[in-house]
This record gives sequence, structure tokens and C-alpha cells, in this order.
Amino acid sequence: LQGTTQDCQLPPKTLDKKGPSIRQNRGGEISRKGRDKRLIQESQPRRVSKFSTNNPKNFFLDKILEFQSALHLQSLCPLDQVQNHKICVCVRKRPLNKRDVRAKEVDIITVATQNCIVVHEPRQKVDLTRYLENVKFRFDYVFDSHADNDLVYRFTAQPLVQAIFEGAMVTCFAYGQTGSGKTHTMGGTCSGKSHEGSHGIYALAARDVFELIIQQRYQSLNLAVFAAYFELYASKVFDLLNGKARLHVMEDKRGQVHVVGLKEILVTDASQILSLVNAGNCNRTTGQTSMNTNSSRSHAIFQLILRPKSLHPGCPVPVHGKLSLIDLAGNERGADTASSDRQTRREGADINVSLLALKECIRAMSENQTHQPFRGSKLTLILRDSFVGERARTCMIATISPALSCCEHTLNTLRYADRVKELPLEGETEV
Ligand code: ADP
Ligand code: MG
Repeated sequence: LQGTTQDCQLPPKTLDKKGPSIRQNRGGEISRKGRDKRLIQESQPRRVSKFSTNNPKNFFLDKILEFQSALHLQSLCPLDQVQNHKICVCVRKRPLNKRDVRAKEVDIITVATQNCIVVHEPRQKVDLTRYLENVKFRFDYVFDSHADNDLVYRFTAQPLVQAIFEGAMVTCFAYGQTGSGKTHTMGGTCSGKSHEGSHGIYALAARDVFELIIQQRYQSLNLAVFAAYFELYASKVFDLLNGKARLHVMEDKRGQVHVVGLKEILVTDASQILSLVNAGNCNRTTGQTSMNTNSSRSHAIFQLILRPKSLHPGCPVPVHGKLSLIDLAGNERGADTASSDRQTRREGADINVSLLALKECIRAMSENQTHQPFRGSKLTLILRDSFVGERARTCMIATISPALSCCEHTLNTLRYADRVKELPLEGETEV
């Protein structure tokens, strides 16, 4: 029932004061009631068992289905308007996968509207009675499990690609728990050892860069496209396009930050970029395919840089615009600070510091603060030029798993994203 234009135009249901309660993320209580039974949860079996309440999972599933049946669920579709945000924060819910289905996972996420998401958190009272806490969040966009990478790209990175031709420095981050879909979103689908990246954001951005560069309005800029791909692991920078060479970060007298020796490769078509990404992935601290072990401990930064074509080869040419696409380390790794293994503890602490600094930098950017806390971590230091200045723009894609067993991590991810950009909960479309 989701994802069609018609559904997107459905008016929200008018709800009165009784019915399932929703805890708003930043406090406050609103009540809902509805009668439309047509729309039920998108990705779980449509069964509402009257005899299942002994099994906690079935009990919660019944409650979630009851909640959803009172709503007109609405999802984003390609015809919806893309807004021009300086800071855009959105959430992508991945579908339940085979492993989740085998584990009989319950989908505890309801994408209620194009910008509203509800987490059904299973709770228990002191007298052991079970209940669901419905925690509601609002973001610029919310993508349900049917959204493909093309749709996500359209609302997130695509407007940023246009901006770099206007001279902007921009970033787009995938943030979330390991296994929630960061690499799928950024790099495209992975299966076994083969990697099909043509529908990841890296490839879609590259396609648009080469479409825009030949447009009449940008031709006179006489720009060339360069690609760089590097990894940040335990505060150390490794060049993924240059045999994993260790690089150093330096700040010059004018406050400009440089990754010294970073290899920028001149690219002339989008397919070249795919090969570069694939080659770079083989150099990751891990290799992309064993991704849920070690690559979750490092940040991967892929950059497309526009520079005017040099008339004097060998002379440094200023940057016209830069797009940085970042597949962040799994945010649950920040919790590894209590691990008994020293190395893991260090990595955890480092990830924590960089994710906190990132949040602070984006918040400072939204408040147009003159002081930018980008020195708080190597990650934010490297991305300094994308946080300062009139034309800096950023987009955060928070990725979440729908599974009940991931509830705590999902709430952590959504609370982080909510802090990055606090949208008012009042006055929004009702759910
Ligand atoms: P992460 O990079 O956050 O650790 P991955 O991107 O590797 O997570 O995703 C974990 C698994 O889930 C992969 O097999 C991936 O193909 C699959 N997956 C993630 N997001 C989606 C999605 N939106 N649709 C279909 N499969 C997905
Ligand atoms: Mg990954």
C-alpha cells in the first residue's frame, strides 16, 4: 500500500483524544484514535492473534498492528518536493532481512508519514505487565523499508551535488548501528564477495557530476573532477587509493586543513569512479565483504572534488567545490569503551569522540556560531571546510534496523539524529 503517488496524497486521519498514546521524543503526550483498518504494518505478517499474548513477541506485534491500523501510513515518493536544507537530517529504515526472519524478529518501527517515525519500545511494569511505549520522532525525511537508494539519493545527496557546482563544500554522512544499512546506502548492494555499487550514493553522485559538468551553465567554469578515498581508523588516516599509505593531517597558517599526500585521481567518467571505489574497498581495514567485523570500526570518506582545469600542469589549483560522502563507523562501537581488550577500548573511545564532535560541529553550523568545535576530532578537523562558510551544507542519513532486538541501538541513533537538528514536534502533521 505504500510508495505510490496516490498514497502520498492521502490526507492524515483526523484523530480524537482517545486511543493509542504516543510519547513524543522530547516529552509531552498526545493521544490518537482511528478506525481505518485498511493500512497495516508494511513488513510483518498480517496476523493479529487473539491467543498469542503468552508469547511476548506476539503480544507486542499485536499491539503494534493495532496501533498501525488506526493510521493512514504515508511514505515518501519520487514526486514529493525536495527541499533545500542547509542541514538535512533524515532516517532510513531497512527491511527485516533473512536472518531477522529466521530469528522471528518483530518489526518495531512505524514510518507514519514522510517525516514522522514511531519506535514501539517494549516495556514492562514493576508488576510484570507488558506494554508498548510509542516514541515519536520527526526529521526532514523518513524513508521506509520500501525506499530504494535512488529515492534516498534524490532527497539527500542529489541537492548537494548541484551545490558543489555553485562553489559549496558539502558532506553527507551515513550514521547508525553496524548492520543497519550505512554501506548499502553509500556504496550500494553487497552480496557475498561481489559488490554492485552502481546504485549506491557514491555512484549516483558521480553520475550527476558528469551530467552537470557538460551543462551549458557550468561549461564556462572549465572544471575537472578528482576523486579521493581514505579511511580514518583509530585517528590514523589511510589512503585507500594509494596502497593504504598512512597520511598526516596538517593545518596551515591560514587555518586550512590538509591531508598531506592524499592521492586525488583525475576522473573523466562515472564508471571510472565505480572502479576506484571497488579498488579502495579492497584496501579497507577489513575489505568491504567482511564488513560487519572491522570496517564498522573505521570511517570511510569518499570525496569528489571540482577544480578549474590547470593551465600550468603541476601548479596547485584551488578547490571550486567538494562533496564528501562518509560511511561512518558503527555507532554502537562507541560503547566498546568498557571492553577488556585495550585496542577495542581505544577504538571505541575514538569513535565516541569523533561522533560527538561531529554532532557538535553540525549544531554549531546550524546556529551560525563563529566558534566551530571542529578540532574536537580528526574526523571533524579533516572536514573543517565543509562546516564553515556561507555555502557549507550537510546531510545526515541515520540508518536503523527494524528489529525488536535492536531497539536500544535504534533509539540511540534516533536520539543522536534528533540532537543534530531539533525539529519542533508541535504543529506537524498528525499521526
Ligand atoms: P552497515 O554498513 O550499516 O553495517 P550494511 O549496509 O552492510 O550495514 O547492511 C547490512 C545488510 O543489510 C547487508 O546485507 C545489506 O545488503 C542489507 N541492507 C541494508 N539496508 C538495506 C536496504 N535498505 N534494503 C535491502 N537490504 C539492505
Ligand atoms: Mg558498513
